[in-house]
Amino acid sequence: MQQHNFSPGPAILPPSVFQALAAGIVNYHDSGLSIAEISHRSPAFLEVIEEATRLVRELYQVPSHWEILWLPGGASSQLSTAPMNLVNPDDTIAIVNTGYWSEKAYDAASAYCHVHRTDPKRLDIPEEAKYLHVVSNETIDGIQWHTFPDVKIPLVADMTSDFLSRPIPFEKFALIFASAQKNFGISGITCVLVNPTYIPDSPNKIPAPKIFQYKTHMAEQSLYHTLPTVPVYSSLLMLRWIKAHGGVENMYALAKQKAAMIYQEIDANPNFTGLAPIEKRSIANACFYGNSPEIETQFLTFAEKRGIYGIKGFPTIGGFRASMYTGMPIESVQYLVETMQQFTAQAL
Ligand code: PLP
Repeated sequence: MQQHNFSPGPAILPPSVFQALAAGIVNYHDSGLSIAEISHRSPAFLEVIEEATRLVRELYQVPSHWEILWLPGGASSQLSTAPMNLVNPDDTIAIVNTGYWSEKAYDAASAYCHVHRTDPKRLDIPEEAKYLHVVSNETIDGIQWHTFPDVKIPLVADMTSDFLSRPIPFEKFALIFASAQKNFGISGITCVLVNPTYIPDSPNKIPAPKIFQYKTHMAEQSLYHTLPTVPVYSSLLMLRWIKAHGGVENMYALAKQKAAMIYQEIDANPNFTGLAPIEKRSIANACFYGNSPEIETQFLTFAEKRGIYGIKGFPTIGGFRASMYTGMPIESVQYLVETMQQFTAQAL
């Protein structure tokens, strides 16, 4: 049975991307070698990482002085390395308290520097704060900043769940990062966009270990160590796909269209209720509840029997979450909407 994959990540990629990835793993460009078994410093892999970097720059019109890095460790490690590179341990940063991933950012940064937590409505930021950490899209809570806040200090953004599916006003940012496994590849690599202006020459009283310094990776085009090569190759294939399908502008238009379809059904269907406040609803992750525990259990079985995969909500939140990243075809969202309608019709 065809599966409609709404997994929150690792997430759906287009079949053509997986086919090209599989072919490259078996025999990369007829070289008789797998992309997985060649040196990360080989000319063939250098072409891969350079084109991937070029495509991120082109798709986002990244300002020319910004650096683009490919780092392992997921967005999770960036929650620690961002403060380690941008500020000193006696400095203060601010974090907007939006949900699960802003809490993770708070925990990680608190181990290194002073952290002021602020409410998204008030945005009270201490004078001394060096930057404001925002989670562009809270993957678990299903809420999103539709317009990034206007503040006097630069933003650091965790864009793990909406990178490449929305525009970025670069002038507001010092740093942006996103793990690949939702919008542009398989898990194992994180794309980190750095405005070097914000990386002070001697940032720390105790410098971060060399492997965690952005400058180390900037100096070596992300090849300081053996980086996860296959995830970078998957990112290249997905970036090419995004470019061939109208770039970020079209990904954004499609994301809005997919979100409108699912939220319309959530609001119209008597069995379901949306989780997030309407004005904050994420266009990447639509979270909703069934209106009783029985409806939740029955709908999950009903949907799974029809080939819908990955819609169970995060354990602490419950309910359902439909993740609709760049690789998600609009037809699958239509199919989920019809499944919700059929579920309600047969229950009547
Ligand atoms: N930040 C956000 C918004 C996420 O959704 C996730 C993962 O789901 C992460 C950070 C952590 O990413 P990783 O698991 O790649 O470290």
